[in-house]
Amino acid sequence: MRIAIVGCGQLSRMMALAGLPLGIKFSFIHDDLSQSLSCVEGLGVVKELPAATKGSDGYDRQKIEQLYKALGEPDCISVEKEQVDPALLQALAEFCPIYPGIAAIKACQHRAKEKQLLADLAIPTSPFFYNSRVLEAGQVLGYPVMVKSCREGYDGKNQWLIKNEDEANAFDKLTIEDYIIEAFVAFDKEISLLSVRSQSGQIKHYSLTDNEHERGMLKRSYAPAMDISNAMEQQAQQYMEMLLNKLDYVGVMAIEFFVVGDKLMVNELAPRVHNSGHWTQLGTLTCQFENHIRALAGLSLGSTQQIGAAGMVNLIGTAKPPFDALTENAKLYWYNKTVKANRKLGHVNFIAENQAIVKQQIAQFECC
Ligand code: AMP
Repeated sequence: MRIAIVGCGQLSRMMALAGLPLGIKFSFIHDDLSQSLSCVEGLGVVKELPAATKGSDGYDRQKIEQLYKALGEPDCISVEKEQVDPALLQALAEFCPIYPGIAAIKACQHRAKEKQLLADLAIPTSPFFYNSRVLEAGQVLGYPVMVKSCREGYDGKNQWLIKNEDEANAFDKLTIEDYIIEAFVAFDKEISLLSVRSQSGQIKHYSLTDNEHERGMLKRSYAPAMDISNAMEQQAQQYMEMLLNKLDYVGVMAIEFFVVGDKLMVNELAPRVHNSGHWTQLGTLTCQFENHIRALAGLSLGSTQQIGAAGMVNLIGTAKPPFDALTENAKLYWYNKTVKANRKLGHVNFIAENQAIVKQQIAQFECC
C-alpha cells in the first residue's frame, strides 16, 4: 500500500510517521508543481519528479501519468492542506481515489462555499455577506466586522478587523476581491472537534478540544474541553456527522467552533488532520494521523478514547528545539523547518492525571 500526499509540511510528515509502522509507503507532491519535487523537508527526502505544470486547458494527461508513476503508483492520494488546485486533484483522480473527496476539499477551500455547505445543512455559522461593500455589510451586521479573504486565509492571514464606518470606507476603496464580511462573534471560547470517517462509513470522534489563539494563530490546546455540557458535545458530533455523511468523507475532518452561551457556531472546517488535534499523539490510543491513514488505507479505525488529560503548545518562531524544558510527561515534535518569525516550527504535547496539572506544566514550560 502506498499513499501520496499533496504538501510537504509538518502535517504530511506526521501522517507518514504514523503510517510507516503499518507498513504503508509514502510519496509527497510539492503542490507548486513548477518545482516538480517530491520532498518532505523534515524527513529529508528529495526526489526529482517530472514537471507537470498547468496549461490553459488544465494539466497534460501524459505529464500527470508520469507524475503518478514517479510517485510509485499510489493506491490513493490525500492532502495536508485545503488550498490545492482542484484541477490537479481532478487530473490525479483518473489514476487513484482522492481522500477526502474533491468536493469536500473544494467546499472547504473557499469561505463562501463552506458557509453555503453549512447553511444547506442548517448548521449555524456567523452571519455574513459575500463580496458586498463593507460599509453596507457593517450597517446590517454592526461593527466591528471581520473581512476574510475567501482563499488562502488561515492562521489569521488575509483577515481584517474593521472597527467603524471610516475603516469600512477605506477598505471599500481597496481592490481586494473574493472575500466575506462576517459579523464579529463575542464568543466565550473556541473549541474544535476532530473526527474520522472510514471508507465503510464508520465515524469516531475525539474529545472536544479547548483552543487558545494568539494573533489569529493557534497557540495552545487542552483536551478534553472544560465546562461543555453533554448536550453541546452531542450537538457538535451531530453537526460533524451531518457533514461527513453528506460529503461521503474519508479521513479526518476538523470543525472549529465558537462557543456562545449554550450555542455552537461553526467558525471554520478543515478537510484534513488539524493542529488542534496534535495532542492526540500523546493523549489517545490512536492519534489523528494514524486514524487518517487507517481510513485512507481502508483499514478499521483505532480507538479515539482519551488516556489522560492532554495539552499542546505550539512553538511559533522558536529558534531551537527546547530540549531543556521537557519533563517526564512532555514530548517534543520538532519539524526541522527553516526558522522564521510567526512560523509553526514544532509543538510540545503534555499528558497528566488532570487538566490543572497540564495547564500548570504548560505555564511552567512557557515561562522558561
Ligand atoms: P480563522 O482563520 O477564521 O480560523 O480565524 C482565526 C481566529 O480569528 C479565530 O480562531 C478567532 O480567534 C478569530 N476570529 C475569526 N473570525 C472571527 C469572528 N467572526 N469573530 C470573532 N473572532 C473571529
